[in-house]
Amino acid sequence: MPATLSETDFLIIGAGVAGLRAAIELAPAGRVLVLAKREVTDSSTQYAQGGIAAALSDEDEISLHLQDTLGAGDGLCNPDAAKVLVEEAPQCIEELISWGTQFDRDGTKLTFGREGAHSRNRILHAHGDSTGREILRALYAKAKTLNQISVREFEFSIDLVTEAGRVCAVQVIDEHGQHRTIRASAVLLATGGMGQLYANTTNPSVATGDGVAMAYRAGAELTDLEFIQFHPTALYLKKAPRFLLSEALRGEGAHLRNMEMTRFMPKYHSMGELAPRDVVARAIMHELERSRAKDPIAYLDLTDLDAGYIQKRFPRIYSTCMQYNIDITTELIPIRPAAHYAMGGVRTDLQGRSTVPGLYAAGEAAGTGVHGANRLASNSLLEGLVFGTRAGRKMRDELKSPAQSVKDVPQAAYSDGPVPVPVEVIITQIQDLMWKQAGIVRTGSGLKQAIKSLEELDAQLGHAHNRREFEARNLRINGLLVARSALAREESRGAHYRTDFPDHNDAKFLKHSVVAGEKISFS
Ligand SMILES: Cc1cc2nc3c(=O)[nH]c(=O)nc-3n(C[C@H](O)[C@H](O)[C@H](O)COP(=O)(O)OP(=O)(O)OC[C@H]3O[C@@H](n4cnc5c(N)ncnc54)[C@H](O)[C@@H]3O)c2cc1C
Repeated sequence: MPATLSETDFLIIGAGVAGLRAAIELAPAGRVLVLAKREVTDSSTQYAQGGIAAALSDEDEISLHLQDTLGAGDGLCNPDAAKVLVEEAPQCIEELISWGTQFDRDGTKLTFGREGAHSRNRILHAHGDSTGREILRALYAKAKTLNQISVREFEFSIDLVTEAGRVCAVQVIDEHGQHRTIRASAVLLATGGMGQLYANTTNPSVATGDGVAMAYRAGAELTDLEFIQFHPTALYLKKAPRFLLSEALRGEGAHLRNMEMTRFMPKYHSMGELAPRDVVARAIMHELERSRAKDPIAYLDLTDLDAGYIQKRFPRIYSTCMQYNIDITTELIPIRPAAHYAMGGVRTDLQGRSTVPGLYAAGEAAGTGVHGANRLASNSLLEGLVFGTRAGRKMRDELKSPAQSVKDVPQAAYSDGPVPVPVEVIITQIQDLMWKQAGIVRTGSGLKQAIKSLEELDAQLGHAHNRREFEARNLRINGLLVARSALAREESRGAHYRTDFPDHNDAKFLKHSVVAGEKISFS
């Protein structure tokens, strides 16, 4: 069945903070088509709670924001990218405010919260703990005022099409289940993270790393894939999703307790509960293992904090926990760590350009090196804004290199019917495997086992026909590349921890991993 052809000037895959911000930047230059694989509101951006970092308060300085970002990155941040991030942050926030974003204020003054590894109160938040939702609302409202931008929901991108080494189109399955090929002068991947690789994740269901897998198949270089951040505190109840309990709760004074009700973080780090996320996540795992209970849990304790203030400051967390009959102002919250954020992604320069002409990436799908080996809390919404803007600005130049003519691409028969059971079984296998063998604490032998199993799963997956099968295919590839990168990095750094190489090895590994086809190198 031949695919229908259509065209636009600029194609953006992803309608989160990065995609929408890039679209707004591109609108004066041509027609912009933004695709989302489900509703626009189904993205990590929508779920971001804690806030967005910017050195805007009287007591803060851009140099301190930079210092904290580099510190969290554990020696591996690209300093140029980090500098761009913190320097362009205030302007991006002011722009957001001018487009109607309502950040929380005390009277007329913006209020700034504190999160782990920040040396100052610099986290802007909206409606208490719904910062991402408010930013997305404002960006989408702004995008809708610009005639050049069309946003289409339920359009699933399958693969990039290249001609003469240049990306010139994207194959999609549209909302009616039809295959289409959309050609464009330039394509931006703003597809978000890959948390769905793991059995426990805070990420929404759309976070299957499709953009990273598509870029890989198109021959683009990927970078720093071994660095997956695990959030220390996700709600842990048997039948509930792993709802995120924002770091800002610990910023306000919440404590972590083990099964004996002992506060344990001070014994692991001088910053206690506000230590870097990888330290807190590993400390919790250590306490869980130490307890020897069959199904051990740790707890987040807010009971000493002012109940009225907590309800006002964290209305979404308060009401969500109440749905599960936990009153967070009087009861301990059962928690465990969960996969949260991918530091690596499609390797880009400071303008969002990938290594393949015509292909750009921004936001969580991109690997700018801005987060190094570990992301500083509340820097990722900011990354989407800053580098989404930059990618959009640079993509305007691509109109000079118009899309080549794209021939019809024959498609396999497609059915969007019910998901066949085996696909879900395979996805669960991938998620369990990644959690156990390529998760918070890793070993060389575990990673080799994961790689072997993921290679074997290829035969079971066969040819993809529907969206879920395409997602499964992407998850398998991403899992394989994360595990291979983690095996190649024979040291521990930031969010990547190996018991067989527990220390830094600066001589060999103070470098970024780069995946190019089958090869993994460090540069
Ligand atoms: C629960 C939670 C809380 C967080 N809290 C914070 C916080 O307080 N502060 C902070 O800075 N960061 C936070 N983060 C991280 C931050 O939200 C994300 O890193 C950021 O929003 C990513 O933005 P993005 O635009 O790159 O991707 P997303 O917002 O995830 O958007 C991805 C888009 O790509 C689309 N897409 C994906 N694949 C396809 C495909 N194949 N075809 C078509 N479309 C596709 C999706 O439909 C979606 O529109 C949080 C993350 C989570 C999950």
